[in-house]
Amino acid sequence: LNPTNKHYSSEELDVEKKLRPLSFDDFAGQDQVLENLKIFVEAANLRGEALDHTLFHGPPGLGKTTLANILANELDVGIKITSGPVLDKPGDLAGLLTNLEERDVLFIDEIHRLSPIVEEYLYSAMEDFKIDIMIESGPNARTVQIHLNPFTLVGATTRSGLLTSPMRARFGIQSRLQYYNKELLATIIERSASILGVHIDLEAAIEIAGRSRGTPRIANALLRRVRDFAQIKGNGSIDIEISKYALNSLNVDSFGLDEMDNKILSTIIDKFKGGPVGLSTLATAVSENGETIEEVYEPYLIQEGFILRTPRGREATEKAYKHLGREKSNVQGG
Ligand code: ATP
Repeated sequence: LNPTNKHYSSEELDVEKKLRPLSFDDFAGQDQVLENLKIFVEAANLRGEALDHTLFHGPPGLGKTTLANILANELDVGIKITSGPVLDKPGDLAGLLTNLEERDVLFIDEIHRLSPIVEEYLYSAMEDFKIDIMIESGPNARTVQIHLNPFTLVGATTRSGLLTSPMRARFGIQSRLQYYNKELLATIIERSASILGVHIDLEAAIEIAGRSRGTPRIANALLRRVRDFAQIKGNGSIDIEISKYALNSLNVDSFGLDEMDNKILSTIIDKFKGGPVGLSTLATAVSENGETIEEVYEPYLIQEGFILRTPRGREATEKAYKHLGREKSNVQGG
């Protein structure tokens, strides 16, 4: 079970869709982001204009795709969904762009993974709502300029550091999504349980929330697994006992940390005497890309007080030692 990833079966994808909030009112948390978006959407609606291009960044599973869909709903327009790695050639993009109706949303997930030519092609589309396309081939080949309907590009990225600055500059609205606290996650879990038609006690929702790594996608995935246990091993309803039993059987860490989180902590402690260790050295030691550690793993570990970011590098905290059941030697200063 690794709910940080999106590798779900089609049945699970359907369930995930069903759990997805459809309007601003359904969406829990991210108050500051939401408050601003509501104003921008209302203003765009009032003027009958396309919303400015919008960029969402932040760790996986916090609601970037969900917000893109909500924007389209609140703007009362259509949405086309694609992702950076899928758009191979400018031609793929041209097909999508020319099919957009006025004010539609084009959502590009993992926008940092666009190829440089596709990215460049996107610039004039975003800026002037115009693109050049090649017609005919051979000696008759020529480019013609096509006008597009004004549209909103919504980009999502977990790795904002990898976005080029010309790309970033073309987004008039940029929002960073934050991890959710336990109470918010419990609210999301309760809402999901009611959509799934299963009863859940508040205490159980809080227990699952606390093990969800601050991430709604993980919370929903855990809820579905706990529901399985409740149906097979319990009476169908989710209480604290069955939740604890299920989460322990699933080997879910008490803080919801995943394998890579724990690997990062144990590496800092065991190989680097608790740190400080530089990002690139750490990245090599855990065989993960430094940017990914910085943008996907580290923010949660820092927020929850497992590691410290110091000028000399990353350090494991007392809490990290305790969590992994290690003794902190007194020789090593912090
Ligand atoms: P990725 O970057 O990996 O694509 P994401 O940030 O786009 O992730 P979503 O796919 O939007 O994340 O959200 C994952 C799941 O979490 C969705 O199915 C949705 O139901 C749920 N979810 C996300 N945010 C919220 C929220 N604020 N309230 C309720 N449910 C949420």
